[in-house]
Amino acid sequence: MRIDHGGGGGSARTGQLFRDAPAARTIGLVAVVVAALLGSAYALGRSLVPDPPTRSSVTTSATGPHYADQPPADDAPRRTPQGTPDPSPAEAGQDGGTGPDAPPPSGPTDGPFGTQTTSGTALVALTFDDGPDPQYTPQVLALLREHQVRATFCVVGENAQRHPDLIRAIAADGHTLCNHSWNHDVTLGRRSPAAIRTDLLRTSDAIRAAVPDAPIAYYRQPGGAWTGQVVSVAQELGMTPLHWTVDPSDWAAPGAGRIAATVVAGVVPGSVVLLHDAGGDRQGTVDALHRILPELTSRFEVEALPDGVT
Ligand SMILES: [Zn+2]
Repeated sequence: MRIDHGGGGGSARTGQLFRDAPAARTIGLVAVVVAALLGSAYALGRSLVPDPPTRSSVTTSATGPHYADQPPADDAPRRTPQGTPDPSPAEAGQDGGTGPDAPPPSGPTDGPFGTQTTSGTALVALTFDDGPDPQYTPQVLALLREHQVRATFCVVGENAQRHPDLIRAIAADGHTLCNHSWNHDVTLGRRSPAAIRTDLLRTSDAIRAAVPDAPIAYYRQPGGAWTGQVVSVAQELGMTPLHWTVDPSDWAAPGAGRIAATVVAGVVPGSVVLLHDAGGDRQGTVDALHRILPELTSRFEVEALPDGVT
């Protein structure tokens, strides 16, 4: 860091200033020290902030919501171009820190900003983000039912409001619920705690309008773009910040074969798998489940993340 030692030099243009030179030097020294401290704090702050999720040029379907845990939507005016998908679980975990003040969560908090990345037990958890979606969510529900698997759905508030019937169908099948923000704002974590709180509460209200008694035990930040304040607000609202272990990047529609292969190869006991049942063309994800579900259930116990009731 560059420190400018020029404090006060050459500025003694008047006799008054000249007579006060010792004081001026003291002020200059204080300024340098403060600048150094601020610089250190800035550097520390930066080291705690994971690289922002980048965005790729991949676009999703032209119809329906564009969001997924991926680059922000094209219609999000504040976004800049250039980006890549969510950080890989390994990268994300390494980038994060652990909030020293965080209340004890239900699972390991080795994700970004102390988020939970695994089920905390040997159970494998499938999570479906961005829905509900009238085209894909019913297909996912039917496959889960066929294989007697319960999962966790991280739903978007505006979609919950639009499709309360699907929220009820999710809950009726014994799946658990996770708040995924009102409209998938990947920059939500950089807003004020009050704004974050309003967004999360609005989302939970939309979910509860459909299923008044269903617990919403988890919050997942869109894009995995966690910040300390979004983690804190979620915890204050009684939700465990939930990251993931295995990410096949299904939002980028790499094809059912690749989605299934990544999941099947990557899952170990305790893995939380990130999948999407909305936000674009998700037929690849649905098709991948035809292989994922039998393979995982033959090797692991696959269960919804616990919400204290189920
Ligand atoms: Zn998402």
